[in-house]
Formats: sequence, structure tokens, C-alpha cells
Amino acid sequence: MAVDYYQVLGISNSATAEEIKKAYRKKAMKYHPDRNPDDRKAEEKFKEATEAYEVLCDPQKRQIYDTYGHEGLRNSGYRGPGNFEDIFSSFGDIFGDIFGGFSNRRQNRNGPLPGADLRYDLHIPFLEAVLGVEKKVEIPKRDTCWTCEGSGLRPGHQAQTCSACQGRGQILRAQGFFQISSTCPRCRGAGEVITEPCNDCDGNGLVSSKKTVSLKIPAGVDTGSRMRLRGEGEGGRRGGGPGDLYVVIHVEPHELFQREGDTIYCQLPISMVQAALGCKLEVSTIHAVQTLNIPKGTQSGQAFTLRNEGVPHLRGTGRGDMVIEIRVMTPTNLSKRQVELLKEFQAIDKTQDENGHADGFMKKLFSM
Ligand SMILES: [Zn+2]
Ligand SMILES: [Zn+2]
Repeated sequence: MAVDYYQVLGISNSATAEEIKKAYRKKAMKYHPDRNPDDRKAEEKFKEATEAYEVLCDPQKRQIYDTYGHEGLRNSGYRGPGNFEDIFSSFGDIFGDIFGGFSNRRQNRNGPLPGADLRYDLHIPFLEAVLGVEKKVEIPKRDTCWTCEGSGLRPGHQAQTCSACQGRGQILRAQGFFQISSTCPRCRGAGEVITEPCNDCDGNGLVSSKKTVSLKIPAGVDTGSRMRLRGEGEGGRRGGGPGDLYVVIHVEPHELFQREGDTIYCQLPISMVQAALGCKLEVSTIHAVQTLNIPKGTQSGQAFTLRNEGVPHLRGTGRGDMVIEIRVMTPTNLSKRQVELLKEFQAIDKTQDENGHADGFMKKLFSM
């Protein structure tokens, strides 16, 4: 007795194409022969679900089935999905989807698989980037499983030749007058499947691990600088070598210093009086304490350059400069005596005109 296709998939007669697909995926996952080795019953269920899916996902076949049932289908020439090879070849894309998560068990069987390169983003403080630093960082990664040496096989077991493609990795299917060759969806071209996966890595050949690596970060790195550590990437499988680790530097901003290339900029606040009379000030660069000579009459915004007090050049020798921009601070919270003195100063100040404008501002404005 043929079973009702809708019952097989556990869906209603009015199920949409999407619902049919979803229901089939669920059944296929449950009864797939890969997951139920040597289980005849599961194999039968899998075939049943596949046949139901094949009919219901094809609008023409579905209509015949809805109207005339199994007999109608047979009369129309439908012979069922046939053996497993046919099943896998005609449902290649759907299986690709379903078993995508298992893919790494089924890659290229012969060659060693080199590990992937990894990227690690490292944030470091401004001064560490400028002066260089040594750091130990813990890199989370997938490393070769040493139980199975990256083969994914339970020790003492062998991979089985794929039954869908007889180990060829490719499947031929007829399309009209042509034969089309495509990658075997069951083994994904590997030609073999792992039926006895390694317990430690679930047949992946890789296990999650953390490795501490020492980084010698040279002075002068900037955001976007990359360091390559050979062999510190993801582990290889089947004797493949490990990938590389790329550390990408991100420099955090500094409260006082800004940086453009190898030039360091900073602002230095001075008082109105210091600006007017000139002064000598000790300033800390990133390398040393320097005396900065501020001449009398220095304006706010004026900049002074300290040669070779900037960022060491990453390539080659020497350093950039440090540029100090002066900010003249207007005094606030004046005492009575200070106000008196400033008023006295104002009275004899020749830069101010009768309207209170300094440096002939109004005259310049109206002569424009
Ligand atoms: Zn393993
Ligand atoms: Zn195969």
C-alpha cells in the first residue's frame, strides 16, 4: 500500500512549496543514511520522504497526484526516485543546503588541507604604538586535532568510499541528450565519507583552542598596520600546514596628543601675560622634557615645532616632529586688584580705538 505523500511529510494538502521543502528537510535530516548507518528502516523512511518531496514540489506531478492519486502518477510515467544515486543527483542543491554544516568532513580526500589565515584586531594605547611594546595576546582559533592528526577519523578507523559516487567524487546525470557531471552532493567531491568520526573533534579534524602568542610591536605602528605571524593561523588537516595570523593594529586616541603620520600635535595653554611678555616653559614630549622658548607677543594658534620629537619612522631611522600649538587663555575669576591693573592697562593701551576695537578692526572693515 502506497502511503499518502502529505502524511509522509506531515503536512496538510494545502501546504505551500516552502512548507513542503521545510518538512522534507526535517525528515531528510532525521533519516539521512549518513546519520543512520545500516538502518534499513531509516533508509526506507528517507526514500519515502524523498519520493513525496519529489512529487509535491513539482506542480505538474502534484496536480496529477492530487486528482488521480498514486495510480495517476504511475500512468503518467513516474517511477519514483529510484536508487540513492539518483536521489542524490536530483536533489543536489537541497542536500548541499542541509549538509552544509558537515561540509568540512567531506573535503578533498587526498591532499593535505592547509589551515586558514586568521585576522586578529588588536587595540593598543597611543603611547605603546609610538614607542613600541611587547605584548602577549590570547588568540582563539581552531587548531589541528592531535587525536586524529587532523584526519577527522576515529583512531583505527578508515573513511568509507562514498556510495553515491562510488568514490569518484563526481556524479553523472542525464539531462535530455546530455550527460552532466557535477560534484557529488553526498561526499562533496571527497569520494569518501567518515562514518566513524573522531570523538575529540566530531570528525572536523580541528578543535577549538586558544594560543598565547608574543607580539613584538615596533615603534611607529599606526592604525591599519598589519603584522604577519607565520604558522600562527588556523591548524591544518590531513597533514596540511597551519595558516598565518595577521594582527591588525588599532591605535586608541590620546587625551593630549594627536597624530598625523609621524608628526605629533598637541595644544599648550599659556596665560595672557605669558603670551604678552614671553616665557620659557618645560614641555613633555613623548621622548623627553624640552624647554620651549615662547617669545613675547605670541598669539593664540601660533605653532612651534620641536624637531625629531615625533613618532619614530616605522621604516628607516629617525623620527617625525612634534608641533605645539599655543592657546592663550583669557583670565577669568579676576580679583579686585587684577581688575584694577587691567583697567589701568586698558587706559594706556594704544591698540584699542575709541569704539573699543583692537588693531583698527573697524577701519579695516569699512575700507573694504
Ligand atoms: Zn580529531
Ligand atoms: Zn560521493
